Amino acid sequence: MIRELTKATEHMHDFHLVFQPQYKLDIHAITGVEALIRWNHPKRGWISPDQFIPVAESSGLIGRIGTWVIRQATRQFAVWRQAGITLRISVNVSPEQLKDEGFTASVEAVLQESGMDTAYLTLELTEGAALYQSPGAVDRLLRLRELGCSLAIDDFGTGYSSLKYLLDIPVQYVKLDRFFIQNLCRNSRAEAIIRSMIRLGKQLEFQVIAEGVESEETVEMLKVVGCHEIQGYWFSPPVEAREIPKMIAKLSVS
Ligand code: C2E
Ligand code: CA
Ligand code: CA
Ligand code: CA
Repeated sequence: MIRELTKATEHMHDFHLVFQPQYKLDIHAITGVEALIRWNHPKRGWISPDQFIPVAESSGLIGRIGTWVIRQATRQFAVWRQAGITLRISVNVSPEQLKDEGFTASVEAVLQESGMDTAYLTLELTEGAALYQSPGAVDRLLRLRELGCSLAIDDFGTGYSSLKYLLDIPVQYVKLDRFFIQNLCRNSRAEAIIRSMIRLGKQLEFQVIAEGVESEETVEMLKVVGCHEIQGYWFSPPVEAREIPKMIAKLSVS
């Protein structure tokens, strides 16, 4: 895998991004999309990011992939903008990428090259020890925040450092892991946790995004507890970029 991935990242031709809408319940609108990478291997076919991202992280290839993802996302932003659609784009940032001293500078360079307004870029961070293994990592995030990018904690509640992240990093979004969301209808403790996250969000000024929302029943519960935004198969799976304007057009007529 490392050999194949090294080869593939030399040109990046076999990779592309798909986009999953984030839907705001109270205004019935798509407010953003999450960019998710896809690898179409010429012989093996589709390989899931769950398989190759960990390999990229442990082999040092994640930096190259991560920069490519941000560049592609900014280009897509420009294409949509040309078409009159302005959407927040979230990209996944591995804690491994933040170990690199040059990370902030490379994001800055990509943003400058694209002319994208930094306010529309959100960096989604998964919890992981790596963030604290590099002394400058938190400062790099703060610098990106200063530049205007938003920060999100991804998969909130599944790692061990969630609350520590909230202490150290001024985030604008917390994405509640689908594990909580899918228990919402069955487990009153899950409901209590989600409610208190929303309350905490009011005090710490972050929005809560529910991940992995698959059913109508869950959507109804999320409305009751006052969750801001949802992402999941119920609204839409990740789709090709060209599908997003169609979805927005459909929403505006209904
Ligand atoms: P993630 O960031 O938590 O992304 C959400 C994953 O959940 C995506 O899987 C998405 O397709 C899937 N999903 C969305 N809605 C639902 C739902 O309703 N139910 C269920 N069961 N799943 C849903 P995907 O695209 O296979 O990505 C898997 C993981 O790979 C991502 O998890 C993220 O950690 C990582 N990843 C993907 N793209 C990138 C990238 O560009 N860079 C980095 N560093 N990691 C990435
Ligand atoms: Ca994510
Ligand atoms: Ca997630
Ligand atoms: Ca995940």
